[in-house]
Amino acid sequence: MSAVPSVHILGAGIVGLAAAAILAARGHEVTLIDRGEPGAATSRGNAAGIAWTDVSPLASPGIWRKAPGWLLDPLGPLSLRPSYAPAFLPWMLRFLAASRPSAWRRSVSAIAALNATALPAWERLWAETGTGGRLCSHGCLDVFDKPAEVARARPGWQLQRDHGIEVRELSGAQIREMEPDLGPTVAGGAYIPGWSHVDDPFALCQDIAAHLRARGVRFVDGSVESLAPSESGVRIRLAGGEEIEAQRVVIACGAWSRKLAGGLGEDVPLDTERGYNITVPEPGVSFRRFIMLPGYGFVLSPLAPGLRIGGAVEFAGLDAPPNWARVDALVTRARKVVPGLNAAEGTRWMGFRPSLPDSLPVISRSSASPHVFHAFGHAHHGLTQAATTGEILADMIAGRAPAIDLSPYSVGRF
Ligand SMILES: Cc1cc2nc3c(=O)[nH]c(=O)nc-3n(C[C@H](O)[C@H](O)[C@H](O)COP(=O)(O)OP(=O)(O)OC[C@H]3O[C@@H](n4cnc5c(N)ncnc54)[C@H](O)[C@@H]3O)c2cc1C
Repeated sequence: MSAVPSVHILGAGIVGLAAAAILAARGHEVTLIDRGEPGAATSRGNAAGIAWTDVSPLASPGIWRKAPGWLLDPLGPLSLRPSYAPAFLPWMLRFLAASRPSAWRRSVSAIAALNATALPAWERLWAETGTGGRLCSHGCLDVFDKPAEVARARPGWQLQRDHGIEVRELSGAQIREMEPDLGPTVAGGAYIPGWSHVDDPFALCQDIAAHLRARGVRFVDGSVESLAPSESGVRIRLAGGEEIEAQRVVIACGAWSRKLAGGLGEDVPLDTERGYNITVPEPGVSFRRFIMLPGYGFVLSPLAPGLRIGGAVEFAGLDAPPNWARVDALVTRARKVVPGLNAAEGTRWMGFRPSLPDSLPVISRSSASPHVFHAFGHAHHGLTQAATTGEILADMIAGRAPAIDLSPYSVGRF
């Protein structure tokens, strides 16, 4: 065996693609296996935020008060399909446990530690692959239309400042001066200059895939059925029965990773927070900055293909059909804050955030095999954290100590 082992990465979403680029740059022979086109699953249509300035997990003390009302509203920012409730209960109980103040503080520190490394890791990856031309560094606005909501947001902004992130509180008039297409209801908010976004997350995936092909990374079209430890490392079994012997394997199958880890005997409580959006090529309004409207539960991303209006968290598992009424509800809410919005024509999309109850990913060596590595569960931050996850994986595979303490992301934490 060569001193630098070859690596098979299962899943060519943004996490698998970024890991492939970093491992290839460090001299590994890399193969990506995916049952679909690279980047075409959840990484295709997300909101495009390089959200490294976020430090708040979804599982947080305040959620106890808000969640029950939200969950009962089928078109609200957080909903649960009644038919999915029994399957969802164990995840929900862990989520509530992760919302206790002490657990929440641990999650905040772990998100902040990972996110602090996110943008520098992307900058290295963009330089290495020549795919950085899509970065938009105009910051983001947190916008509210009720003074009481502004007051409730202040502790969150302070938490960001406590982690060294610049947050400038603004009046409604100051916000409208920066983004005149926001309507008169805007009461106030904050500008976070460090936030950035890319102009098209799917195009970024395609750019990275093209770079990988050009440098000889192999792409295998196949659906992975199971993994098993073998003499050479790991045996990968594809749905058609074909078997591949691998030295090292990375599971980066996003929301679909649970079955593969489970086949190795690791019961990871991975579920999916389904999210929705619509991308409007000619919205009749224009924004320079990424705009978050936490009070309404959606964001506005100004992208190359158009204005993307999206958000929402729906617990309904991996198989239920989309509920497109959620997109109509997003547009109705968006019109309240953006009166000039024309969303008559647009492309609707739903994606599957891969989510663990404590809002942290699993970035870990498998407990079942020293040759298998996990890289999934990045929930709301998969684009943000893809490059830093790739660097951590490359360090783990090389036996080097990663830059941050990895215990919060361990597969053994559940
Ligand atoms: C509405 C919405 C908005 C979001 N906004 C943001 C944002 O602004 N910023 C941010 O950082 N994140 C955001 N996210 C989250 C982000 O999109 C995800 O965390 C990220 O895309 C996950 O990437 P991934 O590579 O893990 O998974 P995916 O992109 O889902 O890729 C997994 C891949 O694995 C393949 N696969 C699965 N099972 C198998 C199998 N058995 N065999 C072979 N292949 C398999 C799939 O085909 C797929 O290509 C958002 C998500 C949603 C839904």
